[in-house]
Amino acid sequence: MPVNQKAFADLSAELRAAQVALVAVSKTKPVEEIRELFELGQRNFGENYVQELVSKQPLLPQEINWHFIGHLQSNKVKHIAPFVHLIHGVDSAKLLKEIDKQAQKMDRTICCLLQVHIASEESKFGFDEAELSLLMKEIQNKQTVLSHAKICGLMGMASFTEDETIVRKEFSLLKSIYDRYASEEFNILSMGMSSDYKIAISEGSNMVRIGSLLFGVR
Ligand SMILES: *Cc1c(COP(=O)(O)O)cnc(C)c1O
Repeated sequence: MPVNQKAFADLSAELRAAQVALVAVSKTKPVEEIRELFELGQRNFGENYVQELVSKQPLLPQEINWHFIGHLQSNKVKHIAPFVHLIHGVDSAKLLKEIDKQAQKMDRTICCLLQVHIASEESKFGFDEAELSLLMKEIQNKQTVLSHAKICGLMGMASFTEDETIVRKEFSLLKSIYDRYASEEFNILSMGMSSDYKIAISEGSNMVRIGSLLFGVR
């Protein structure tokens, strides 16, 4: 299925007006379709799998900002550290420290979003509020020292449900947690996908991750 250019134009205009950044989620999609969106002006793309990202990245323009949005294993950080722009799903202190180490090796700073578990489903990854608060305290009082990984904000996924009330409540919770830490440096709130981005934006998201709306169903 080709890229939905009309959907891209409409979505871009909608997000521009709302001052929300778009990460085009290109997992499982061929490089030709990514290039097509790139040529229409899209620069931020998101991938879920390390192997897939590492094989696509060299085939595409260097101007692309690659976002890693999937579950990242510590032993795979080294493969994306040379070029990744933003890692969304950081869900443990161990992973954060590994990103810091690999970024240092590359002499780069890598922006990270801490993933917060807001959905009712067990399966979704992320810190709960208490764990997040603990980690943020450790960083503030320098028990945990990061030199090359930078925490730039939070990311979360709402429950997979048709019930808008539940989704709204979860996004609203994430926004309230984000507001406790928000600053000039900590300024990204990544929430919202094809099915729920409008709710996410109305609850304060400033970065959405959208795949199927642009590329068709996977
Ligand atoms: C696949 C994925 C998306 C995009 O989902 P769509 O429903 O296709 O928009 C967003 N975020 C994460 C973490 C994903 O894995």
